[in-house]
Amino acid sequence: MEQIWKAEIYIQKNSRWFAKHRLKKLGARQHANGCWTIEAEDRTYIARVCDRYRLKYNWYRKEWTRSANYRELFFRHNAPPYRCRYCHRRLKARKVEVDHLVPVAKARSSRLVQIGLRLQGIRNVNDVRNLVPSCHRCNSRKRDQTGIWYLRGVLGSFRIYWVIRGMIRLALAACLLFLAWHYRTVFL
Ligand SMILES: [Zn+2]
Repeated sequence: MEQIWKAEIYIQKNSRWFAKHRLKKLGARQHANGCWTIEAEDRTYIARVCDRYRLKYNWYRKEWTRSANYRELFFRHNAPPYRCRYCHRRLKARKVEVDHLVPVAKARSSRLVQIGLRLQGIRNVNDVRNLVPSCHRCNSRKRDQTGIWYLRGVLGSFRIYWVIRGMIRLALAACLLFLAWHYRTVFL
């Protein structure tokens, strides 16, 4: 299998027009955050161009970078109804934010995370098994975190988890109500 690399190139605000023109010619794409990306098997030529124009760049293996079509991929493999994986809220398709369960930034920076994914047979961070539906609130709270969010995302795929969670919450609420009633004379 050919190894494909993806460069993220940063052009300073006051950078020359030539640099942009050159990147465009090479087939690089500009993104909303101002960064440019380009894919290549051979890194030397692009590195040389970037060095010449004094552009900062980082190389990543393509499989650990965000793909352009992961949202479509998710909807192709997942039929409605959709629920947020982290809070179980029901979502309309257009409201679904497709989240990388293992965040892209973690997958490309941590060797351990890559090994963990490979153990599950996942060789690409945009694998459909790593894509989960999320509401805007949970997605913006989660950002690039793993840990407890990863656990919630995994457990959230099991119906029984939500049933047990609901029962525990109900039991806690009942306990609080009972205590409040029992000690009402103290508080009132
Ligand atoms: Zn949510």
